[in-house]
Amino acid sequence: MKRDYDVRILEREYKIGDLVYVLDTAKIKGRAKKLDPPWKGPGLVCEKLSSYVYKIKLQKSVLTINHDRLKPCKDREVPPWLKQCQHRLQDGEDVTKATNPDLYCLCRKPDDELFMIQCDFCNEWYHGACVDLTPELADTMVKFRCPRSELWHRKVTLHIKANIPVV
Ligand SMILES: [Zn+2]
Ligand SMILES: [Zn+2]
Repeated sequence: MKRDYDVRILEREYKIGDLVYVLDTAKIKGRAKKLDPPWKGPGLVCEKLSSYVYKIKLQKSVLTINHDRLKPCKDREVPPWLKQCQHRLQDGEDVTKATNPDLYCLCRKPDDELFMIQCDFCNEWYHGACVDLTPELADTMVKFRCPRSELWHRKVTLHIKANIPVV
């Protein structure tokens, strides 16, 4: 009996239009404790490429993912962009081609699916490479302050010292 159950889990099927969470292995490796759980999403199943491989549309990217890195999204509330995407998919549109990715970091480029770190002060995401951080290094940090927040912090400290109001 136990065996049947395992098999069923393994062969969980997703339909086009299903909402799923995606296991983000890129972030598991470098995940600092303070960062989000390694589940990205929710996203939308746009295409079934084989019995096990799906094309998933996330807000800022489109991923080709094995089913064992997916879990169904049971959220009652889904983000507006996702609802929109679902409708467009129902209308037969190719939602995977829509490109207006969110931009991050100092470089203002999209998530490149490599290690990223979130600033504890401004909540912006940064590419590890752009701020000279590796997952290993990030793991040893209690807090990450990005270069922009660092500048702001210095300005504030300076103003406080000089007793000038911060603008
Ligand atoms: Zn960058
Ligand atoms: Zn910051």
